[in-house]
Amino acid sequence: MEKRFRSSALLVIVSLFAALFLSACGDNTNTAAPAATTAAAATTAAAGAATTAAAGAATTAAAASGPVPTSGGYLDTIKQRGKLIVGVKFDQPTFGLKNPATNQVDGFDADFAREFAKALLGDATKVEFVEAVSANRIPFLQEDKVDLIIATMTINEDRKKQIDFTDTYYNAGQSLLVAKGSPIKSVNDLGGKNVCSAQGSTSEKNIKEKAPTAKLTLFAGYAECYTALENGQVDAVSTDDVILFGLKLRAPDKFEVVGGQFTQEPYGIGMKKGRPELYSFVNGTLQAMKADGRWKAIYDKNIKPASGTSAEPPK
Ligand code: GLU
Repeated sequence: MEKRFRSSALLVIVSLFAALFLSACGDNTNTAAPAATTAAAATTAAAGAATTAAAGAATTAAAASGPVPTSGGYLDTIKQRGKLIVGVKFDQPTFGLKNPATNQVDGFDADFAREFAKALLGDATKVEFVEAVSANRIPFLQEDKVDLIIATMTINEDRKKQIDFTDTYYNAGQSLLVAKGSPIKSVNDLGGKNVCSAQGSTSEKNIKEKAPTAKLTLFAGYAECYTALENGQVDAVSTDDVILFGLKLRAPDKFEVVGGQFTQEPYGIGMKKGRPELYSFVNGTLQAMKADGRWKAIYDKNIKPASGTSAEPPK
């Protein structure tokens, strides 16, 4: 009895030490889960030979693998509601495409949303998809229309002032979709040409900077740009290469993606600021998905058929 008392006292000390250590070196990613972190460190220490050295190693391992909270704060609001509400694109093959026949939203972003629902609510179908376009992604978060935005959204400094982003979940880069045989081969050939992009996107901003004499047509989404290209109203569609690869699948013999990646577009999952539990849950689950093969399976299912290549998760 006395021995057991002593070992639980040791466990408490180890846990306190672990909590202090973690909060001293924590960034905003893991400070949100001190209770879960402490519990994980204590469990690991109890399972091993509870020496100080083993406890130290267990603490480091727990911090590195990042225990993921599944309750507390805004996570409880989602759990009480019983579904996760996610803003995704509805018109971008490979990332977010609503199938009118089934009403199902397919794609890399949509499958990420399902993984988060599974991890939090135990059921991948407990997601309500709301159509987001490039320009309304930040307002949707700020107005609480959605819990998360998973919609080919580039992380940048300006957007980071308004919302929080997870780590990068995909690395894209801006490119051009043109008719096969077009004289346009790169962003340097766009002078005086009609180029289409989406309002409120980084693509719009980048074209204005890199091809200031191009005549820019802006729509809410890229599917409308694709139709304009098909009809000969514009000479090129410009946005992230992966979005263009998806659009090209509609008529692979007619169009080609040219010009390489002339920008870097690291995608992040967006959420409203001030929700530390939600942040830790989403970013922690993302890290686990990159490490355990789920990222790769979702890539192979949705993007590989369009890109033609395999890929590794971003670091
Ligand atoms: N990734 C870019 C952005 O976040 C372009 C793609 C899009 O508009 O969804 O603006």
